[in-house]
This record gives sequence, structure tokens and C-alpha cells, in this order.
Amino acid sequence: MKKKKDHQRIKCPYCGRTAVLRKASYVYKERALDEYLYVCSGYPDCDAYVGVHAGTVIPKGSLANGDLRHKRILAHRMFDSIWRNGIFSRRDAYRWMQDTFSLSDAQAHIGQFSDYRCECLIQECQKVLKNNHIRIAS
Ligand SMILES: [Zn+2]
Repeated sequence: MKKKKDHQRIKCPYCGRTAVLRKASYVYKERALDEYLYVCSGYPDCDAYVGVHAGTVIPKGSLANGDLRHKRILAHRMFDSIWRNGIFSRRDAYRWMQDTFSLSDAQAHIGQFSDYRCECLIQECQKVLKNNHIRIAS
């Protein structure tokens, strides 16, 4: 694993404590995954964490609690169905998302999204899917 200086200092947005880079098995007890997570140092009282990009110590987004993690998964599924169904290319789908929510390149990642923005994205995706007569079982 990388040296300590490579770690990013991340604060938990829920409780303000520092997040600690840990093996995913610390959280996912049942699966000893060879992955890393930034976990709130208040865990498990504060159930906030975020994964890192494979092979790096770069977080995939901001720390999220259970509700937000769930919402981000739903939002991602909706968003992916837009380009998977060929309404836009994947690249254009991201551009559409950026235009719709006035996001910079750095902000245009569902891993950075708040609860509110996840809900907005889900709604916008539903509109696009409906306009294209595509039904998604949710
Ligand atoms: Zn916390």
C-alpha cells in the first residue's frame, strides 16, 4: 500500500471527524475484499465511508452514510440506463448531466452528489427515459 503522505485528509461531512483509510474488510466483514475505504473514525457510530479508485488512495467521492450510499447507487443505475439504452453515448450522457446541473468536470461524478442532487438526477433521468419510451424496472 502507498505511503502515508499519499493519503488524503478527509473530514466526515456528518460528524466532522477525520476519515481513516482502512481495508474494506473493516466494514464488509463477510467479504475480505482487497480494497480500501475511507471510513469515518467515528465508525460504527457514524456509518460514513467511501471507496477508493482501484489501485489508488484517491476517494471515489465524499463520505456517505447508508441513505446517501443507497441513493447514489439508484442515481447511478438510472443514469447508466440512459447511455446503456443508447439514448446518448456515455460521453454525451455525462455532458448532458453537466449541462443540466451546471457542473464542472470535477463535480460531474455521482460519488460527489448530495442526497438532493441524486434525487434531481433520478428525476431528470426518468424524464429522458420516458421521452424515449424506455421503461426501467426500479
Ligand atoms: Zn462521521
